[in-house]
Amino acid sequence: MQLTDQNTYTIQGIDPVQLTEQYGSPLYVYDGATIRRKAAELMHAFAGINMKIKYACKANTNLAVLRLMREIGVELDVVSPGEFEMGKLAGYEGNQITFTPSGVPFEEVRAAVEAGAIVNVDSIPLLEWFGQTYGNTKPCLIRIKPNVAAGGNAKIMTAHADSKFGISVLLLDQILEVVKKYSIRIIGLHQHTGSDIKDAEPFLKVADILFETAKHFPDLEIIDLGGGFKVSYLPGDAVTDMELLGNKISERFNTFCKEYGRDLQLWFEPGKFLVSESGHLFVTVTVVKEDPARNFVHVDSGLNHLIRPMMYGSYHHILNVSNPSGELKPYNVVGYICETDTFASDRQLPEVKQGDILAFANAGAYGLTMSSNYNTRFRPAEVLIDNGKARMVRRRETMEDLLKTQTDL
Ligand SMILES: *Cc1c(COP(=O)(O)O)cnc(C)c1O
Repeated sequence: MQLTDQNTYTIQGIDPVQLTEQYGSPLYVYDGATIRRKAAELMHAFAGINMKIKYACKANTNLAVLRLMREIGVELDVVSPGEFEMGKLAGYEGNQITFTPSGVPFEEVRAAVEAGAIVNVDSIPLLEWFGQTYGNTKPCLIRIKPNVAAGGNAKIMTAHADSKFGISVLLLDQILEVVKKYSIRIIGLHQHTGSDIKDAEPFLKVADILFETAKHFPDLEIIDLGGGFKVSYLPGDAVTDMELLGNKISERFNTFCKEYGRDLQLWFEPGKFLVSESGHLFVTVTVVKEDPARNFVHVDSGLNHLIRPMMYGSYHHILNVSNPSGELKPYNVVGYICETDTFASDRQLPEVKQGDILAFANAGAYGLTMSSNYNTRFRPAEVLIDNGKARMVRRRETMEDLLKTQTDL
């Protein structure tokens, strides 16, 4: 989103305030150009090697976003049968989708395998089941937990010793025993370290662990380093230097391939990196409450629509779209849910008045996909702006939607 010379915000030349008038507030708006730019940035950084992007679609499963990903040559990583179905609806073939479950019923894995998906096996019991069920007839990847803590926010780390995800690298002997017992075809090793990782170092560290582990698996075709690239939350924020990271990892990967004796494919599973910055959640100020302790700005949204700040303390930059150059004042921006739903404390914003439109940045990832109907509130509509045109890609919910599953009407 850009501030124009006329002191108004626009996305690809389109006025977001007008969109909220047309489609209602609150409103999620995604900028397709940002998604395209981020994907191109990643592809460019790894241009020298055989690299594939598997978008971790739990970040944003809007079908229009998934179709855009497919159009630009990005494949999918899914974590549930529902996400798998979304991928199919968006036009993906089963074999373009990786299923990375976390302790799911084995029947979900069966369904995914039968639909052609490749599975990241995340536990010894699942590996046993996979071997018993398929022997050497179906390939799979193994999700290794490298016991590395990275990213700084413990709530979004996924590869340290305490994490529930993957099979500990310390259990390698046991993994090898099960693989041998059933002649399981392991075609890849996977790891996902967590989110908001800025530097190449943690990736190199876990890559080294995977490369070392890889020596025990002769049939590998893929090394999957997961997602977690940090994005920009503030103007001027330190972000991952993709070119540098690409060079460093590519170099190490090429050395590994030489040692391994074959050219493998390198996979990444970014979620946030591809879609976070593309999205804004536009909300309307319902009440400005001048309290002796704090000035509260209430908006027509809350943890039901954007739970990240309350769930793991994430920062979302807030813009006053209605008054971009007003005098800065400190506010607590809070929701309308009957629960403490503070988006931001003591935040400097251009003077806020009732009726102003505010925008939460970085709302393209883990925004609507984490939303709920708490307090019997409706989920907002979604708009995608792509190739200079805005179109609604999800309508706002109605009471009827909420009553659909109630059986005691
Ligand atoms: C969530 C997830 C990702 C994406 O993480 P981001 O921080 O959004 O990049 C990648 N891989 C797996 C297995 C995940 O669960």
